[in-house]
Amino acid sequence: MKLLEERILAEGIAIDENILKVDGFINHQVEPELMRKIGEDFANHFKDMGVTKVVTIESSGIAPALMTAEAMQVPLLILKKSPSKILNSNMFQTVVTSFTKGTSYELTLAGHLISEQDHVLIIDDFLANGEAATGAVRLIRKAHATIAGIGILIEKSFQPGREKLESQGFHIYSQVRIAKLSAGKIELLSQP
Ligand code: 5GP
Repeated sequence: MKLLEERILAEGIAIDENILKVDGFINHQVEPELMRKIGEDFANHFKDMGVTKVVTIESSGIAPALMTAEAMQVPLLILKKSPSKILNSNMFQTVVTSFTKGTSYELTLAGHLISEQDHVLIIDDFLANGEAATGAVRLIRKAHATIAGIGILIEKSFQPGREKLESQGFHIYSQVRIAKLSAGKIELLSQP
């Protein structure tokens, strides 16, 4: 997606060879107009795939996922990182390890919000090692729902996430693919 590529090249900050900061327009400050266009792009890409719900992980994926859900006219389901005490029955849970932060967290999904009739589109901001997306897939499968595809804003193609997910047969669409990062330098993978 040209627009997002341009923003990343202009305002993204490569901290080192692994981490890209996009705090000015995605992760900390959020730009609604950009999110709307991102949502329309995902909706257009996944339009004929029978999506009944968009699913994202708390919290950075919420803004683009909401705009995608709006464009597709389906609900948005947010996988919670800190389960509410009220939601303690009929809950699906799984543990996700974050290599980026060196921590683990529990992801929770309330069973009454999803059914085996659901065909979901997973949206997340970054794809790195694929742990977050794999955790989302595990939860959705526990609920016997099916997965239409995975939409990612920024894929770090030099990390193994895409390979891991594609080898399980998932359709992945990344709006921007990054070939290489080094301190102060961002190199994109050219897309058709
Ligand atoms: P994965 O589970 O694929 O290894 O990592 C995905 C999650 O880690 C994303 O949801 C995102 O929150 C975070 N993440 C991974 N790499 C980056 C990065 O380079 N920059 C930022 N801001 N977040 C990242």
